Amino acid sequence: MPKLQDLQAHEVVQGIKEGLFTAEEYVSSVINRIEDVESKVRSFITLDSERALTSAKLIDRKFKEKEDIGQLGGVTVGIKDNISTKDIRTTCASKILEDYFPSYDATVIRHLKDNGAIILGKLNLDEFGMGSTTEYSRYHPTHNPWNLDYVPGGSSGGCGAAVATGECTVSLGSDTGGSIRCPASFCSVVGLKPTYGRISRYGLISYANSLEQIGPICRSVKDIVMILNIISGKDIHDNTSMSSSPITINNKLDKFDIAIIKELIDGSDLEVRKTVYSASEKFKEIGCIYNEISIKNLHYALPSYYTLASAEASSNLARYDNIRYGFDLPIAEYKWDTYFSNVRKNFGEEVKRRILIGSYVLSSGYYSKYYLKARRLRSLLKLELLKLFKKYDLLIGPTMPILPFKFGEKIDDPIKMYLVDINTVLANLAGIPAITLPIGFSNGLPIGLQIMAAPFEEQKLIDVSNALENTINIQRRPSLV
Ligand code: GLN
Repeated sequence: MPKLQDLQAHEVVQGIKEGLFTAEEYVSSVINRIEDVESKVRSFITLDSERALTSAKLIDRKFKEKEDIGQLGGVTVGIKDNISTKDIRTTCASKILEDYFPSYDATVIRHLKDNGAIILGKLNLDEFGMGSTTEYSRYHPTHNPWNLDYVPGGSSGGCGAAVATGECTVSLGSDTGGSIRCPASFCSVVGLKPTYGRISRYGLISYANSLEQIGPICRSVKDIVMILNIISGKDIHDNTSMSSSPITINNKLDKFDIAIIKELIDGSDLEVRKTVYSASEKFKEIGCIYNEISIKNLHYALPSYYTLASAEASSNLARYDNIRYGFDLPIAEYKWDTYFSNVRKNFGEEVKRRILIGSYVLSSGYYSKYYLKARRLRSLLKLELLKLFKKYDLLIGPTMPILPFKFGEKIDDPIKMYLVDINTVLANLAGIPAITLPIGFSNGLPIGLQIMAAPFEEQKLIDVSNALENTINIQRRPSLV
């Protein structure tokens, strides 16, 4: 049997229900793992081991008394630190929310707790989810567990690294333009950005709310399904949420029509291209039909994403005035005519840049030139994609165009950093589901395959991912940590 901390979520629940080990034993093994690796990886902003152990003991008591321990009984979950957790500090990796303890749980957290999951702590991110490396966290960067000199991806870098190293069983991230898929790909784990509306965003601290969704990051497709089903559904607190049918793991695969997106593959590094092409061969092995297609308007995706995301960010972040919640500002700085600007200087450079760009593209005179144009391009892209989905079941390409890179390589040039998201923003603009699956390594650095489907067609993503996962056998646990 593998070490306790290496078990997947479904094995943990099964093990506890069969009496093979207790929830307390399992949670202790995960905490030991954290003690061993956290100083090198730095996935967490806030760790709540004590509360986790108390919850584990409660589950063991329930089990002894023959009560239901829930579908996730004993599973440890790490939460991206932009998802509200009642009485657990929620910082968004920003100084501006340094002392913020939410008074309520996000809907996804409520679902997890109702099903017996144990919230282990809050995971690192780029400030407010803006970035692709976690270098923009205002606390500390997270390291890629496959090579500690490299970035883990972002913005949910803590989520990717913690799941890959076994510092938690599964994690919840958020994806505005790739923030689940990028770190999942860079850390060699599975990450899903669901269809816009499948999961309630209530309690997710907004960065760009027309684009983002919460989603799971796990070590297997089976675990993704388990978490997805529990956190999905209509919620009265989020009018954009919808009900959807549950997803299942099927062992029989339909003969899907799959198309690789030419522009995404052509724009990628040679090593990434080679690995994606060889994984694509597997589609034929598992009985799918394989084509190559072009997306005419693809070059509009990145500029329209950054225009819209910044516009929404500038509006969403206007609420941080340090009056309703915030941090301790020295008394000398409380002056009526400078207070807000002094407070808002505490945002990091990248967040300030987004607020400036966003305010600019929304200002009268530039609104139609930039914001409206970006909205139109978004619709155009969405229409083109929906048309393609009439012909093909799934669209694929590399999740990331490049391999994970070293710290400091892109941080000085925002455009270089933005370009990293070129393959992932498409799914957010169109509101469609997209999954990333680990498919190989180059020089010990992970490579992921992205698969996209039409809105609410997650079942197709899961069917094909499950079949691929069973065909591609790669190392799961980084040997470095
Ligand atoms: N890197 C992208 C950005 O900075 C995506 C971030 C995200 O999905 N939260 O906007």
